[in-house]
Amino acid sequence: MMKEFLPFIWETHGQTSGKTITIIGGTHGNERTGVEVVLKLKAMLDSGNLALKTGTLYLVHGNPRAIEIGERGSEPFLDLNRSFPISLLMNEPTGVYEDSRAREIAPVLQKSDIVVDLHATNKPSEPFVACIHSPYHEEIYKWFPCQKVLSDPGAVLAGEPMTTDEYTDAHGGIGMCYETGQASDLARVDEVTQNVINLLIDQGLVEGIVTSSICEHECYELTEPVILTDDGFIFAQDFGERSWEPFTQGTILGHHGNTPFVVGYEGVIVFPKIPGHRKVGKPLAYLAKRVS
Ligand SMILES: [Zn+2]
Repeated sequence: MMKEFLPFIWETHGQTSGKTITIIGGTHGNERTGVEVVLKLKAMLDSGNLALKTGTLYLVHGNPRAIEIGERGSEPFLDLNRSFPISLLMNEPTGVYEDSRAREIAPVLQKSDIVVDLHATNKPSEPFVACIHSPYHEEIYKWFPCQKVLSDPGAVLAGEPMTTDEYTDAHGGIGMCYETGQASDLARVDEVTQNVINLLIDQGLVEGIVTSSICEHECYELTEPVILTDDGFIFAQDFGERSWEPFTQGTILGHHGNTPFVVGYEGVIVFPKIPGHRKVGKPLAYLAKRVS
């Protein structure tokens, strides 16, 4: 049986010491695949269909309030995955739910050798991984089918490291976010559950045999946010409907009011926001370019 030692944070130990792995779903409450994968793993461990041999496994429902209402955060524009500054536990509490929830989860991330945070995108997207490019990370993300790996060495996403994977990396572990596909699509729950189990087998936490599924990955880096201004923003035709839309240098990607928006490099658009998630002064999408 898994033990719930804090709300929606479950823990189980193997017979012998080993690695500590944390699987999170529902950091964004509307991204259901991760929520279901965590429940499924918990049910398998509770029933004995999956048994931990070594080490420690944490299962976490990231943002229970947001999961309950099926929204990204507990309130509009609150975001648990922007609530993990490296110095979180030294900072004064902000009084916001996402901040207090991050403080419950942070010690688990600090203890973890590996953290996989399961996300989904609000617009259609192929599955992809967001994390640092390193051989250590590749040993983890090779179990999660994807062609593309997105990293953010310049902290374009939030101005400073603020996400669960960045927090994990800053405290000595290996963190990654896996974007499983579109938020409303639950078709990959069984597959992603098996991806996690393959990782647990490979890291020695559970018995089993897996064959490595390394494929060639394309690596991208975030270059800049596209900020919504008072003038509004309309994507040019063919853009803004999905992540990984490619563009060439000089292409008009859209208009801020009447002003064309063009960048001087070839790249892709990622994380375009649905209208309900847009806010003046905040990113409405991000741009990235291929680095290897
Ligand atoms: Zn997410």
